[in-house]
Amino acid sequence: MARVFGIETAIDNNVGKKEFTQLAQNLLSESDPALHNQAIMEFGALQCVPGSPDCNNCPLISHCRAFELNTISKLPVKSQKTKVSNRYFNYLFIEFQGNTFIQKRTAKDVWQNLYEFPLIETDQLLSSSELIENDYFKSLFADVTEANILKTSNPMKHVLSHRVIYAQFISIKISNLSKSFNQFNQIKINDLDDFAVSRLMELFMEKLS
Ligand code: SF4
Repeated sequence: MARVFGIETAIDNNVGKKEFTQLAQNLLSESDPALHNQAIMEFGALQCVPGSPDCNNCPLISHCRAFELNTISKLPVKSQKTKVSNRYFNYLFIEFQGNTFIQKRTAKDVWQNLYEFPLIETDQLLSSSELIENDYFKSLFADVTEANILKTSNPMKHVLSHRVIYAQFISIKISNLSKSFNQFNQIKINDLDDFAVSRLMELFMEKLS
């Protein structure tokens, strides 16, 4: 439920337990609640598993907020995990005819309302071969004829109060646009400076100029 509805409330405290219980109650099938509950449990055990959910074969993919926002690896949130954590950000610096793509960060964890490149968050930084096997990466570039990975930056470490962010920037040149990019703002690379971004993004952009 946390993933499908994109809920960031921790599931293991009183507030979260209440919220998820209420949501489960609202969803419950009145005609066959036992079968409904069994199906939900099996979906969590077989399909939407914690580590690597099989999103590309999921019947809920078009309704799944976490898939849409690429927050699958962060959900569900557990309160004890949010105290100090390492995060691994793979940023996609996508070039198309002098333009690139950015999005406003809405998650409340870090850098809320700042802009950033399309992001794939993982349990560790990805190699190029791991990247092209990533489900989100594959769905993003599915309709792109050519997506050439030009280079990957050196890993960068950025320490925040409760998190250590390890990031890399992957430069990708594409041959054509696809609908999957509609979720982002397409801007001129030269206009990147007009947007409020994190210090981490700034450090990468300084190397571009
Ligand atoms: S699309 Fe992926 S994250 Fe969303 S419900 Fe399906 S398996 Fe879970």
